[in-house]
Amino acid sequence: MGKALIIGAGGVASVCIHKCCQNPDVFEEICIASRTKSKCDALKEKLDGGKTKISTAQVNADNVDELIALINSFKPDVVINLALPYQDLTIMDACLATKVNYVDTANYEPLDTAKFEYSWQWAYRERFEKAGIIALLGSGFDPGVTGVFSAYAMKHQFDEINYIDILDCNAGDHGYPFATNFNPEINIREVSAKGSYIEDGKWVETEPMEIKRVYDFPEIGKKDMYLLHHEELESLALNIKGIKRIRFFMTFGQSYLTHLKCLENVGMTSIEPIDFEGKKIVPLQFLKAVLPDPASLGPRTVGKTNIGCIFIGKKDGKEKTYYLYNVCDHQECYKEVGSQAISYTTGVPAMIGAAMLLTGKWNKPGVHNIEEFDPDPFMDALNQFGLPWKESFNPDLVE
Ligand code: NDP
Repeated sequence: MGKALIIGAGGVASVCIHKCCQNPDVFEEICIASRTKSKCDALKEKLDGGKTKISTAQVNADNVDELIALINSFKPDVVINLALPYQDLTIMDACLATKVNYVDTANYEPLDTAKFEYSWQWAYRERFEKAGIIALLGSGFDPGVTGVFSAYAMKHQFDEINYIDILDCNAGDHGYPFATNFNPEINIREVSAKGSYIEDGKWVETEPMEIKRVYDFPEIGKKDMYLLHHEELESLALNIKGIKRIRFFMTFGQSYLTHLKCLENVGMTSIEPIDFEGKKIVPLQFLKAVLPDPASLGPRTVGKTNIGCIFIGKKDGKEKTYYLYNVCDHQECYKEVGSQAISYTTGVPAMIGAAMLLTGKWNKPGVHNIEEFDPDPFMDALNQFGLPWKESFNPDLVE
């Protein structure tokens, strides 16, 4: 049905590419393009020979002209951005110039400020609408499936949703004292930032890891979780009817937190460049270079993830609670696509989001967050492509 240009060849891209190849009726042809072409070639070598035709290319996604030239030569129907959040705007610019649909999994972040919000990408709304193309923002798990879950709950279970708690539990153990499950630089920027949540239409800010709760996760058990700022809070508070409060919690083990604190205390998580032996280096980028590559954690990670949303709202005048979640097993993912569950739970929805656009199931020009589309075909595809969801009408609530 179409051609996809996939930018990036890291952990998430690898899963997305495996999944495109499992869905060849929709993904007839893909081009894998990234900064390091050898990584694209390695993925092609692994997956070539099936029904989906694969090619590769080298591209610097910070350079709009290079992106435009690549898009003009490959002529994709959709560009799936699985590079880093720093490249969102240049890739959107190239999609606008060539009138091609755009999908990503993380909102734009400027390289020199650890700050992520949608304003930069929402500023493209009118231009995408006028060009008749779609930018689908945040088609990973969180953001991504959490937005689809919210739209589904709104459509089928509630007249209004007043409270959402998004709970992200990774109970996987990779055996290292400290490693991150996706790009270490992006991950550490996210978890060392101040926390925040939305209450009564206003952001409430907390110190990093200030708010801790314990939650008994289905199929996992009790885990410590901490309130973080997360990008989907911003869009869901606008797009879901009746929201009074929306929060995001992520689980962290004690070893991870102790190492993070220590790295912070010695300045290793800083993004301010320093002089080192006559060269400017960014401590966090140096730290990334010495930490394990998340893509290498697959074979050694055991355990499960449970990510989902607890909704409290009203249906027919009565208060109601509803919990939608997915449980994913690290080793099962590894057996299927050679990656751990964090890359898996992001790469699968990235493929599904692009498939929604390629099949025309989602067809609304402009820049949209995922919860703005009909959730039903996406929910069906989650069951079909390895992320089945479960529901509970009587969940434990978060204080
Ligand atoms: P990786 O670091 O494993 O992969 C990033 C890839 O992008 C690498 O192949 C890298 O190339 C490439 N890249 C980086 N800069 C450029 C550039 N300027 N030009 C071309 N290619 C470039 O990251 P992940 O796969 O772990 O994460 C990918 C994205 O997914 C991130 O944006 C992350 O925030 C997002 N994510 C979203 C989640 C969600 O649930 N919504 C959860 C987890 C991640 P090279 O190999 O040369 O370094």
